[in-house]
Amino acid sequence: MILRPPIHRASFLQRLQGCFLGEPKHGPLPGGRTEALRRLRDYDPSHYGQSRNFLDGSVSRLSAYLRHGMLSPVEVREFLQSAFPKDPARREEFLRQLAWRDFFEKVLSWYGRGLENDLEEPKHRVTRYHRMPLDVLQGETGLPCIDGMLSELFSTGYLHNHARLWFAAYLCHFRGVRWQEGAQLFRQHLYDGDIASNSSSWQWVESTFSSKPYFANKDNIAKFSGGRWCNACRVKCPFEADYPTLQHRLFAGSSAPMAKPTPAAESKRVELSATDTGQCLGPLPPASDLVWVHDAAMSWEDPALKANPEAAVAFVFDEPALRAEPWAYHRLAFVLEGLEDLFEHLPNPTKLVLVGAPADQLAVLANALGASTVHLSEHPNPTVLETAIQLQKGSKVIVHSRPVFAEYSQEPKRFSRYWERVAQQVLGYRPKSARRMH
Ligand SMILES: Cc1cc2nc3c(=O)[nH]c(=O)nc-3n(C[C@H](O)[C@H](O)[C@H](O)COP(=O)(O)OP(=O)(O)OC[C@H]3O[C@@H](n4cnc5c(N)ncnc54)[C@H](O)[C@@H]3O)c2cc1C
Repeated sequence: MILRPPIHRASFLQRLQGCFLGEPKHGPLPGGRTEALRRLRDYDPSHYGQSRNFLDGSVSRLSAYLRHGMLSPVEVREFLQSAFPKDPARREEFLRQLAWRDFFEKVLSWYGRGLENDLEEPKHRVTRYHRMPLDVLQGETGLPCIDGMLSELFSTGYLHNHARLWFAAYLCHFRGVRWQEGAQLFRQHLYDGDIASNSSSWQWVESTFSSKPYFANKDNIAKFSGGRWCNACRVKCPFEADYPTLQHRLFAGSSAPMAKPTPAAESKRVELSATDTGQCLGPLPPASDLVWVHDAAMSWEDPALKANPEAAVAFVFDEPALRAEPWAYHRLAFVLEGLEDLFEHLPNPTKLVLVGAPADQLAVLANALGASTVHLSEHPNPTVLETAIQLQKGSKVIVHSRPVFAEYSQEPKRFSRYWERVAQQVLGYRPKSARRMH
């Protein structure tokens, strides 16, 4: 399947049947760098430090744009530094949190696909189930708080960081489910769903990438949610206890009815063959260079695009991956809207959206264009690296570096150690304290 601008979003997405979950309903978040820049300009981090742990705190909701490269962390930092030049305290905590994103990208760079498995031994002896409980998948656990979080996840594609922590603790420790099942659910539904921040955070909660399991009690949930669910709650609350009691209860074992694997997980992987793609392409103006825009590089400021204003440009919906792990429809719509915005701002003469296995599609496209060189921007996502390696078999591949948020070449084991080393680079001055909370 091939698409040239103008893009008719709804009809294109209909053709991606099997790649998305549920009804084709648009979500609340508009995609694209134009929207990302507007949101960044409107954001004031003055109250972030005091309020960010509360569900109604002044968080930025920029993560979906950062995840897709519509904004870069370096741009966000530079913007805040110029918007609040005389008052670094207003932006300090925000930049420290943004550094978590950078830290987790470094974790992914270091461990690659290894991040999909436990990085360390868990700091407890409870065995874990390998399947997601059905009531969780259906958002019907009977606990108003957890069902509320799931409903928000499914309908808005966003959860506040504290809600992510509570839900992850519930799934791993209260239901005894492997963190990987929760990470998959998040990847499918969150607008910002990724591998780096998502898998690392789940491992942080589980204690396979931290020194102890994270869990919360009812007082904590009630306080930081403003009593949203707890005030009127009448169910027997599994979170209602002090921490030592919960610690004892949780790490002595648990059981839960397990779901059968979802049809999505069982679905057949479909590969488009090179000939199929070749037949769809039709005549194309020749180009010596092709830029692959991957889904973490969707900005006209992206280095691969900036360096190649004459090149053909292509984005590929990774159909085999999406069939194996479909995304919520709103995620696909967000990406497509981001592409429309991107293409409108690019001077490049040929801009295409393809569907299939990225390496196959790009190889056939390069051939059809007569392009000898494929350009892309560096990213630790394993699919990007693996695609680049495959492309090297038939083309010259140039990987363009992105601006660096923080230089740190050691094994990224703990954020506190990383932050001690990089805080001065990130903030432009040495902070008074290096706090630990996630
Ligand atoms: C179990 C779990 C899974 C998560 N999965 C993802 C994911 O798939 N993708 C994702 O981008 N983030 C993930 N996070 C991290 C964090 O929850 C989100 O980045 C944040 O909530 C996004 O909302 P915001 O943009 O309003 O954040 P803000 O609080 O406004 O923070 C600004 C930016 O800093 C970064 N940031 C803030 N907190 C964190 C953090 N704890 N870890 C990493 N980066 C952070 C994000 O890029 C964020 O956009 C996860 C956290 C947990 C606990």
